[in-house]
Amino acid sequence: MKTPPLGRLYWRPVNIISSNRRPCRASRTSKLPQCQRQFSLTSVRPARDRKPLSLVTTEKPKSNSKGKKRVVSTLAIVFGLGTAFYYISNPDSGSNTKIFDLPRFTPFTIVKREEVSPTSIILTLRPQTLVNRPRKLVSDPYQISWEKGTWSVEIKQPQLQIARAYTPLPPNKGDPKGDLRLLIRKEHKGEVSGYLHTLGVGSQIHLRGPHEEFDLPERVTDVVFLAGGTGIAPALQVAYTLLEGRHTDVEKPNMHIVWASRKRADCEGGADVSNPNAWEARKTGRIVQELEILQQKHPGQLSVDYLVDEEGKFLDQKRISSLTKATTEVKFGARHTRIDSKLLFVSGPEGFINYIAGPKRWEGGKEGQGQLGGLIGQMGLRTWKVWKL
Ligand SMILES: Cc1cc2nc3c(=O)[nH]c(=O)nc-3n(C[C@H](O)[C@H](O)[C@H](O)COP(=O)(O)OP(=O)(O)OC[C@H]3O[C@@H](n4cnc5c(N)ncnc54)[C@H](O)[C@@H]3O)c2cc1C
Repeated sequence: MKTPPLGRLYWRPVNIISSNRRPCRASRTSKLPQCQRQFSLTSVRPARDRKPLSLVTTEKPKSNSKGKKRVVSTLAIVFGLGTAFYYISNPDSGSNTKIFDLPRFTPFTIVKREEVSPTSIILTLRPQTLVNRPRKLVSDPYQISWEKGTWSVEIKQPQLQIARAYTPLPPNKGDPKGDLRLLIRKEHKGEVSGYLHTLGVGSQIHLRGPHEEFDLPERVTDVVFLAGGTGIAPALQVAYTLLEGRHTDVEKPNMHIVWASRKRADCEGGADVSNPNAWEARKTGRIVQELEILQQKHPGQLSVDYLVDEEGKFLDQKRISSLTKATTEVKFGARHTRIDSKLLFVSGPEGFINYIAGPKRWEGGKEGQGQLGGLIGQMGLRTWKVWKL
C-alpha cells in the first residue's frame, strides 16, 4: 500500500475541525507538531460530545463571540508586535549578554577618568555598543567572572600593537551594567600604562578577555591577602567575590588584607590596624574608601592594614605569622581541614612577589607559580594554600 506523505495525513483533519482556523501553511518540519496536536484532539473527544463533523464546520458562531474573538486577536497581534519590536531594538536586554568576543579585541570608550594618587588613575570604560544607552543592560554581563574569583582583561596599545593585563575593580552599586573600572599605575617609561595615562574621557580603547587568574574554591574559611601597590585590585576582587559576588548559603570567610604602598599618597587615610593612632587621616583616597565601604557592609569579616615604605612600615615575617595564626581553626576548632580553605595570596610588582614568596617561573609556555620561597618559604605554613598573582 502506498503511504501518504505525513504532511497530507495531518493536514486534512485540521481543516475539517474548524473552518475559522487558517490552514497550516508552514513547512512540515516547523509546523508539524502543532498540526499533530490539533489532529489528536479530535480523536480523544468523548463519544457523547461527538457531533457529525459537518455540523461542527457549518455551525454559525454567535455575533458577540465573533466580536470578542476579534478584540482578543487584535490584542494578541499588538502584544506580539510590541514584544518583537522591543527585542529587535534591544538585542542585549537579556541577562546572557556577551561583551567580549575572544580572541578579538572589543572597543570600549573612556567615560570617566579619576586621579586617585600622583601615580595612579581609575578609568571607567563602557563598551562601545552601550555608549548611547548606558542603562540598557539589566544584569551584570561579567557576573560569571565575579562569581569565580580573580580575573583580568588585556588592553592594547594600538601604535605598538602590544597588550598588557589589568584587573577590573568590583562594580559600585548603581553603576551602569557593562562598565569596567581599572586602576592603572603609571610605570616609569611604561609603554601601555604611559599610553593609558595620556587618554581622556571620550577616547576609545580596545580590550580582550576575560582571563581567569584564580578560581576561588567554594568553601573558604580564611584569606590573608598581601598586596603591593596595584596588587590591591585583585584583593578587592577576592573580597567582593567571597563577601558579595556569590549568592550561596556557604558561610563567609574572614579576610585580612595587608596593603603595602611606597608612598602615603597611594593610600591616603588608611590606618595600620595594629597601630591605629600612628596616622591621622586628613583625607581618604578612593581605594581606601572602597575598602572601608566593604568593611562597613561586612563588620568583623574584613580587616585591612596599610603599610607605607616612606613611613618605615614594611611587611615582615612577624606580621604574616600573626595573621596566619589568628584563623577560624584557632577560634572555632579544626572544622575545615581542606588545604584550599585557607588561602594566602601574594600580589603586586615582581620585586614584591619575589621578596615575599619567591619568583614565579615560566612553565610550559606560561607563567607558573614557581617554588615557594622568600619570607613565606622560610615559615613552613603547611595548612595554607599560597598563591602568587
Ligand atoms: C594578571 C595581571 C594583572 C595586572 N593588573 C594590573 C592593574 O590592575 N593595574 C596596573 O597598573 N597594573 C596591572 N598589571 C601590570 C600591567 O600588566 C603592566 O605590566 C604594567 O602596567 C606595566 O606595563 P607597561 O607597558 O606600562 O610597562 P613596560 O613597558 O612593560 O615596562 C615595565 C617596566 O619595565 C621597565 N623596562 C621596560 N623595558 C625595559 C628594558 N629594556 N630594560 C630595563 N627596564 C625596562 C620600564 O621602565 C617599566 O618600569 C597586571 C599584570 C598582570 C600580569
